Amino acid sequence: MENLKKRFKENGHKMTTQRRAILDAIVENRNEHLTPEEIYDIVKIKYPEIGIATVYRTLQLLEKLNIICRLNFDDGYNRYELNYDSEGEQHHHLICLDCGRVMEVKLDHLKSLERQIEEENDFKVVDHNVKFFGYCANCQK
Ligand SMILES: [Zn+2]
Ligand SMILES: [Zn+2]
Repeated sequence: MENLKKRFKENGHKMTTQRRAILDAIVENRNEHLTPEEIYDIVKIKYPEIGIATVYRTLQLLEKLNIICRLNFDDGYNRYELNYDSEGEQHHHLICLDCGRVMEVKLDHLKSLERQIEEENDFKVVDHNVKFFGYCANCQK
């Protein structure tokens, strides 16, 4: 959190109570991949005066500062999670087509795949985004 505060300051922004509350909601529910509406519902409990517009604006700011990233699981919602840069390790998502559950996986061999792509195509890879669609253990039954 100290690091994040610093990043706010360096970019000329203040870490206000409401911004902090929004960030806390994302950090505390980091396995949930929350939508702006879900974040709003969480923050509202403690800060009933907050408006959904503030949530949207803050999410945009946090995204711009690379603190969070926006996810698209093709379910019609924008979802947010902490940027893997701030956590140290990237993960990918398994999305259940039946119940919508999202699980996280680490894929170490993607690094070597990146290197292979670079060598074979003379292409500098800076990022990748992998989603797997299928059925979770419950929905396979
Ligand atoms: Zn499922
Ligand atoms: Zn995730």
